[in-house]
Amino acid sequence: MTTIAEADTPAPVREAHGAPVAVRGLEKRFGAVTVLEGVDLDVPAGSILALLGPSGCGKTTLLRCLAGLEEPDAGEIRIGPRAVTGPGVFVRPERRRVGMVFQEPALFPHMTVARNVGYGLRRHDRRGGRVDHALDMVGLAGLADRLPGTLSGGQQQRVSLARALAAGPDVILLDEPFSALDAPLRAGLRRDVRALLAEAGVTAVFVTHDQEEAFTVGDRVAVMLEGRLEQVGTPAELYEAPASRAVAEFVGDANLIPAHAAGGLAHSPIGAIPLACPLQGPVDVVIRPECITACPGGDALVEHVEYYGHDTVLVVRACDGCPVRARVMGTQGFAPGDRVGLDYTGRPSIAFVRDGDREAAAPA
Ligand code: ATP
Repeated sequence: MTTIAEADTPAPVREAHGAPVAVRGLEKRFGAVTVLEGVDLDVPAGSILALLGPSGCGKTTLLRCLAGLEEPDAGEIRIGPRAVTGPGVFVRPERRRVGMVFQEPALFPHMTVARNVGYGLRRHDRRGGRVDHALDMVGLAGLADRLPGTLSGGQQQRVSLARALAAGPDVILLDEPFSALDAPLRAGLRRDVRALLAEAGVTAVFVTHDQEEAFTVGDRVAVMLEGRLEQVGTPAELYEAPASRAVAEFVGDANLIPAHAAGGLAHSPIGAIPLACPLQGPVDVVIRPECITACPGGDALVEHVEYYGHDTVLVVRACDGCPVRARVMGTQGFAPGDRVGLDYTGRPSIAFVRDGDREAAAPA
């Protein structure tokens, strides 16, 4: 069914600028296994979308469909005004104006940094300062003559980003680009990459299974679970108003505490919690551990203490036997076996109806 919509010659190179990406009803199966199911997604021009989900949920498959490296079984993808995948249309990867950055930098070891960045560009684009400009953007202007093997992992990943930017794409797709790096390098590089994608004005879709990375790099985050997009929103929207129980549990640390909702309050083992949704009856209320305070004395029992340095999580058995995680500053001297009182200090909270799968919660 594949139709090649355009000729084989590569698209002409130009400055990077963002184009919106729109995905409608995307389906992808490998044999009998459905990997993408009814995926709808909009990425505004020039914005960064983090695609967040656990291993195997289909993130890379979606990215590869956007790049044209996989052909979906159904659905449509538009980049800017043109359909690149759809009924009777399949635009080749090199014609999509899409750059890719993978987990491993995949540089040619025998070519200098500059030649790696210029690889695939036409001669007059290479000579026109495009390579120098891209290296400048990623902060590697002084390393143009080095071989990749003499660079650190972080520098190599910058080279691969420069290579993607040099071709002047409308969209950059990044597949776990920091996962091979150690923690401090990773944190620094993701700040830099976010800044330079914004500077380049290019639209970016960035795959990660790391929530912190998704929140700090993405303007918006799309949570993918088992081949479906569960929710797309800003990091704060996802954290404060998860659309489903599954998102609440996947994004951040959450207590889902059994409670009875009445009159705008959820009556729970840790007191009456104000609700952000008009529910009545048995609910599970979503409570972030940092919204619970613990004070000495009371009828809850500290079972474990998880010390993280900047804060501590107390794993507490509430009076009705319900396990509750409370995040407190420092250690506050609590130890397993202590009796504590728990209080809720957060904003009105989201809750989900408890019977069956009627997950209903509405923001206030
Ligand atoms: P990870 O974070 O581990 O990379 P992911 O969310 O990116 O995971 P995908 O790589 O998209 O997930 O894979 C989704 C599912 O599709 C997995 O079960 C995987 O085994 C399967 N899959 C991916 N590519 C193929 C293929 N070419 N043939 C058969 N199955 C595949």
